[in-house]
Amino acid sequence: MIQTVLDIVAIRKDFPILNRKVNGKPLVYLDNAATSQTPQQVIDAIVDYYSNYNANIHRGVHTLSQEATDAYEQARIKVQKHFNAEKAHEIILTAGTTHGINIVANGFAAILQPGDEIMVSALEHHSNIVPWQMLCERTGAILKVIPMNLEGELVMAEFHKLLSDRTKLVFCNHVSNALGTVNPIEEIIDSAHKKGAAVLIDGAQAAPHIKADVQQLDVDFYVVSGHKMCGPTGVGMLYGKEAWLQKLPPYQGGGEMIAEVTFEKTTYADLPHKFEAGTPNICGGIAFGAALDYMNAIGFPAIAAYEDELLQYATEKLLAIEGLKIYGTAKEKTAVVSFNIEGIHPYDIGSILDKLGVAVRTGHHCAQPIMEFFKIPGTVRASFSFYNTKEEVDVLVAAVEKARAMLL
Ligand SMILES: *Cc1c(COP(=O)(O)O)cnc(C)c1O
Repeated sequence: MIQTVLDIVAIRKDFPILNRKVNGKPLVYLDNAATSQTPQQVIDAIVDYYSNYNANIHRGVHTLSQEATDAYEQARIKVQKHFNAEKAHEIILTAGTTHGINIVANGFAAILQPGDEIMVSALEHHSNIVPWQMLCERTGAILKVIPMNLEGELVMAEFHKLLSDRTKLVFCNHVSNALGTVNPIEEIIDSAHKKGAAVLIDGAQAAPHIKADVQQLDVDFYVVSGHKMCGPTGVGMLYGKEAWLQKLPPYQGGGEMIAEVTFEKTTYADLPHKFEAGTPNICGGIAFGAALDYMNAIGFPAIAAYEDELLQYATEKLLAIEGLKIYGTAKEKTAVVSFNIEGIHPYDIGSILDKLGVAVRTGHHCAQPIMEFFKIPGTVRASFSFYNTKEEVDVLVAAVEKARAMLL
């Protein structure tokens, strides 16, 4: 049976950090789009690893090394099952989304020819823009941009016009971290494939809310970060279709990623190790698996439904504040509210909110082109998770009202 109503009181008990005070006020943590908080179950997995079986993996015959290897490979299978990849070796455990994108961008340097086109959306995080610009510089490929409208939605008619036989790769986020827009990735993947282009989806912001099925999506690459879905920092996933991962050259050279090394020639290890040079974040990988267990036990449909409620509630309450404008009003959104108050710099609002215990992000959210589009220096961004409450939304709204009164 799918759980549809969350026991928020019980859930909040799992997150020790939610008990702390900031500037003498109870913490109201609304910066989940930057990083999520960590439940005790994941903290326990980290402590267990370092307390009981910390060892390097894949090369030791001793017991600790075997236990660590088993746990790490078990985590890979948890990630595989979660995203429904066909094969475990299609899951590359990375340092995070940025790392995963760079592995693919580096690989395409061996594939692209001058004059080939690659396409990015206007809604991207810098980590899904800059590696591709670097790739264009290396290869002579041309970067095209799918434009957005004032609601913060991609203009799909323009996407279809830009797509051509020269397009080799399209990359787009599943959910925008700056505005919360859920992009029509099914349509993007389908249309790109019809033109023979590969597609990379940046799922960093989607993964905490939406359980993506990479086989159903038929996506070529999907990347996420563990730290945005209750896991630790410094770990993430690059999913790639086996054929693509076979085709792309390795990104980094080192231990673990080789089959045989001589000074004349080195042959590379099989997948996934070809892309996992050096000692990986073993503990991080295991804890990432624990985070997926934790979130799946609560259930993604219930998480999404509850966060949607928080989004509706926060949107309504915030819009009632005079002079407040929300950026990103797409029909399909996750629980991110990016806003400004006329005449006030977002940073000033953020500072006052912090004094009141409310953690939000201010600035360009690693998405300067979006800010440029709206002609603003940045926004205040409140982003909600399943452990937030309506009472916390009320605290946010009262704090924003207070900031407005102080600053205007
Ligand atoms: C956070 C985020 C990234 C970058 O993730 P890292 O963990 O910093 O590598 C990329 N894209 C989106 C949409 C994000 O939200």
